[in-house]
Amino acid sequence: MVFTQEERRNSTPLIFKIIEEKKINLPKVLEEYNLHFKSFIFLTGENNFKNNIKQQIVCQPAQYFVVKEATHDQADEIIKKIGNQVTTSHLIVAVGGGTVNDVAKMVALKTGCEFISCPTTLSNDGLVSSNCTLKNGDSHFSSTQAKSPLGIIVNLNFIKTCPDKYIVAGIGDLVSNVSSLHDWKLAVKVGKEKRDDVIFHINSLATERILYYDYSLIKNKKEIDFKNSRFLYSLTESLVTSGLCMSFFGSSRPCSGSEHNLAHSMSKLHPESNFIHGFQVAFFTLITERLAGNDISHLEKLYNLVGLPSKFSYFGLNLNHLFEIIKDSPKVRNRYTILQDKSSILNDKKLLKDLIADLV
Ligand SMILES: [Zn+2]
Repeated sequence: MVFTQEERRNSTPLIFKIIEEKKINLPKVLEEYNLHFKSFIFLTGENNFKNNIKQQIVCQPAQYFVVKEATHDQADEIIKKIGNQVTTSHLIVAVGGGTVNDVAKMVALKTGCEFISCPTTLSNDGLVSSNCTLKNGDSHFSSTQAKSPLGIIVNLNFIKTCPDKYIVAGIGDLVSNVSSLHDWKLAVKVGKEKRDDVIFHINSLATERILYYDYSLIKNKKEIDFKNSRFLYSLTESLVTSGLCMSFFGSSRPCSGSEHNLAHSMSKLHPESNFIHGFQVAFFTLITERLAGNDISHLEKLYNLVGLPSKFSYFGLNLNHLFEIIKDSPKVRNRYTILQDKSSILNDKKLLKDLIADLV
């Protein structure tokens, strides 16, 4: 099965800027694209609220709302506060990390407004994709179709103020595409998924740019300088490209396979572990690649270099916990992956233990 031209979703953002300036001059950027909005609705995390934003982004008149959690209730609460006055002449501006961005995608979908994303971290590939991960009531997180942004403006000066671990997490989420792309190929082979060679190769290219990045170029003595502008530029381009692949495909399939299933299971079964998404999916990529019979030494070398976990004990859990997670993970969603392909190994505890013991 392949995609037809009509089936390919066309949700490319109009604006994509990577800048390194003191402030984002939003009216100037919009003017450049001949876009005009009556007023602006800012969504942001508590740390970035109002006064901070005013110093970071030139923009008036504006209303400001704080996003506290990635839930459907939070999106509905904001829509209620905005009230009936909202029209398509308002522009939603999301300033923050994944939580703010995910809620903004849902608010934009439900209000019909356009939105612009101004990220303050590079911790995952969800910056431009149309899907968002929100919690519904007390249940666990799930990925839902929402709205992709009209534009994305990444000010590297903002990114440079976030802790290094949120940049390392971005590396982890990108590298996990090694596993998701492999799963996608498998699913196509057994007739359970559509093929799209263009998206596949673009995503592969974005992944390899960071997987095989020459980190010695940004090494200061023993430390890696994650705030190096050239590196952040490459990471931004790669994460945005990966996100675009999901938008083009119409689901998270190109960037989310068995390694994401395992991470979702871990968050569900051990909510107390609460580790950053990019760290989880990077680790589980080692497991799924091992299951696939692929050499993982290049991944382990990279993880040691940048500080991504290469042992499960990093998460404070043991082999039995890992067995439970692996057992639960195929049920996370109906998506064919290596977890179904190698179910005979997964059902044989001894075989499985022999295969992954060195990763625990
Ligand atoms: Zn991810």
